[in-house]
Amino acid sequence: AAKEQGKARCVAFQADMHTRLVDQLDQERRLRVAIDRGELRLYLQPIVDTVAGRTEGVEALVRWQDPQAGLRAPGTFLPLAESTGLITDIDRWVLRESCLTLRAWQDEDPAGAPDWITVNISAALLDSPDLPDLVTRTLRDTGLRPEALLLEVTETTLMRDVAGTAPRLERLRSCGVRIAIDDFGTGYSSLGYLRDIPADVLKIDRSFLDGLVGSARHRDLLAAVVQLGHTLGLRVVAEGVEDAAQLAELVGLGCRYAQGYHLARPAPVAALRAAAQPVGG
Ligand code: C2E
Ligand code: MG
Ligand code: MG
Ligand code: MG
Repeated sequence: AAKEQGKARCVAFQADMHTRLVDQLDQERRLRVAIDRGELRLYLQPIVDTVAGRTEGVEALVRWQDPQAGLRAPGTFLPLAESTGLITDIDRWVLRESCLTLRAWQDEDPAGAPDWITVNISAALLDSPDLPDLVTRTLRDTGLRPEALLLEVTETTLMRDVAGTAPRLERLRSCGVRIAIDDFGTGYSSLGYLRDIPADVLKIDRSFLDGLVGSARHRDLLAAVVQLGHTLGLRVVAEGVEDAAQLAELVGLGCRYAQGYHLARPAPVAALRAAAQPVGG
């Protein structure tokens, strides 16, 4: 009887595996179709200069307008995109769309448009040898100035291979685009890579804001991180600012740039531009 039971369990397990495999293949097919059919959407989140009180830049964040599930956040489809290699197609789409969007905005409203846009680059795209060509081609095609483009690479991606990555980033910077280190402080590793990675902007992960208000220890750690960025000559952006108290702390610590729900949620460009219009203007 024990043997029979074991067999039945095994069959059930195989059926379950099969269902999951079919489901995964179906998801992959649907994502591929989504990219081809134009179901990806560009959302932008303001990055605010807290001294000037102005949106200086925007971060490009992808969404999937899924006909079945509605608007999907990247966390629901990027892991699959990464494991199947579709991520580079998504990143390429976001890069082009970002450049087109900011170029049009700057043309139509030179005073009101942000100065730059920052685009997330996956590990797979960073590794692809044609990235510098892709970037220069995209800038040329869209007419966006290189100074108006930042590329965000996560700390975890940078730390995989510092020696191999540094010259790639240098090559990109020689085209005039700038580099941001994303999710700083989540890599659980040495700071040594900061010495060798050429970058312009440091984005402090939002986990540093947890418990900030009311804890001297949290504040001291954040102060040290902000100071570290400035010492290295980087512009420092705090990510995930959710309330006025956090913003006040950051400003007090000399962190000039902030991004977060308290300032603005990610939104399509039309919504951002409508919100930026002065009332009645
Ligand atoms: P990220 O690059 O660190 O982007 C910041 C994320 O924090 C965004 O999530 C943003 O919506 C969210 N966020 C902003 N302000 C706040 C806040 O005040 N509180 C909280 N709790 N969250 C806030 P989102 O849009 O869901 O994107 C998640 C991640 O997906 C991004 O993290 C990035 O790593 C990745 N991602 C998004 N778009 C792309 C893309 O086009 N290509 C690649 N390779 N990755 C992308
Ligand atoms: Mg980012
Ligand atoms: Mg981040
Ligand atoms: Mg991230």
